[in-house]
Amino acid sequence: MAISKKLKLSFFGGAGEVTGSNFLIEGEGKKILIDCGLYQGSKIGDLRNLDPLLYNAAEIDVVFVTHAHIDHIGRIPKLIKDGFRGEIYSTIPTKEIGELSLMDSLGVLGKEAKRDNHPVIYREEDVLHAVKLWKTVGYHEPVKVGENISVVFRDAGHILGSAMVEITYNGKKILFTGDLGNSPAPLLRDTEKVTDADYMVIESVYGDRNHESVDERKKKTEQVIEDTISKGGVLMIPAFSIERTQDLLLEINNLVENKRIPPVSIFLDSPLAINVTKIYRNNQDFFNKEALGIIHGGDDIFNFPGLKLTPTTEESKKIIDYPNPKIIIAGSGMSNGGRIVHHEQNYLGDPRSTLMLIGYQAVGTPGRMLQEGAKRVRINATEVEVKAKVVSISGYSAHKDGDHLFKFVKGTADTLKKVFVVHGEPKTTMFFVQRLRDYLGLNAMAPQAGESVELDF
Ligand SMILES: [Zn+2]
Repeated sequence: MAISKKLKLSFFGGAGEVTGSNFLIEGEGKKILIDCGLYQGSKIGDLRNLDPLLYNAAEIDVVFVTHAHIDHIGRIPKLIKDGFRGEIYSTIPTKEIGELSLMDSLGVLGKEAKRDNHPVIYREEDVLHAVKLWKTVGYHEPVKVGENISVVFRDAGHILGSAMVEITYNGKKILFTGDLGNSPAPLLRDTEKVTDADYMVIESVYGDRNHESVDERKKKTEQVIEDTISKGGVLMIPAFSIERTQDLLLEINNLVENKRIPPVSIFLDSPLAINVTKIYRNNQDFFNKEALGIIHGGDDIFNFPGLKLTPTTEESKKIIDYPNPKIIIAGSGMSNGGRIVHHEQNYLGDPRSTLMLIGYQAVGTPGRMLQEGAKRVRINATEVEVKAKVVSISGYSAHKDGDHLFKFVKGTADTLKKVFVVHGEPKTTMFFVQRLRDYLGLNAMAPQAGESVELDF
């Protein structure tokens, strides 16, 4: 029998909350970070991002990045600013989208810093430095950290290139799920099954509720589009630039090409989403069979009659001159920045128009307030009266819902010694912890931010 060894696991971000993902594994004289994300709330860059890191950045050997969402990568440039000179690993799409995303956030973070008179969280040179240290590997290609620790990425099915991080040490495994995809997804392959994890650190964004099915989502989307068009209004869709936008484009593509909705102008009003869509086009080997089938049948899934890309500010400003009805897809997904706020200022007061929310809305964001039925919201520092219809469609979520998270853990329940539930609002996380204890008899817990545990390996 192998002699028992230990690894120390610390939860430095993303514990007891959804954003700021940041975990540290220490052992064999190595320090390994899993993700280094931005804290987000009412601001894109929460002020806590300015706090010193709770470890010495210069001592970190390697960072493994689960996926390119900013709440998983947004403090990597800060890590570099603070002295990190090790290696960064991810899949190819994660690096490509990550670089775009970090550069894109630079502008928003800079504006916020200037407006609220505080230092910037990171600078362009830090992003460029990060890109230099950033290496790419495929799923299942082991990366050695020192002599005895081996790390592989496994497909999480959440966004293009998203991965779970599996660390093997002394014959045992700890799995960091990152964010887990809402499989089956329109474009991506299903989340890989895991059957042999000894420890797991799992997300729980939707740990206490379920999404509507793919069919319901499609039906609802078609209805909302038809409804808004018939009223002669504007359909505003605040969309996250990565995955949600591409999923939506594919679905609208199918509605338009099957003539299920009348022809109208559809604006993709987000430079980031336009550029991310290009990365999707260039990495089709990450798509599932169904999406590849449509592409091989000759259809350009991200283009259809009526679609207009508006990368420049001038083009964006002209959208208002186009006659109604029309559809506008723009970031940010939680209406706390980006171009969607201009459209919301223009059309939230219009009873013919609709705001369609298709993603998670964090507490404190204008998106959350709108979702909860606010009649007045502060958008871009002005009060806006809400007369437009607000509809939420949860089926577009890029996250697994409660039942599917449960099923995922169940797949390896026999081998699990301990489960740490993270990335959720506290009551959601506790609900999921209790479900794992009650129905699978697992040793599950919700770690506190800053907490450390010693694990037997
Ligand atoms: Zn994510």
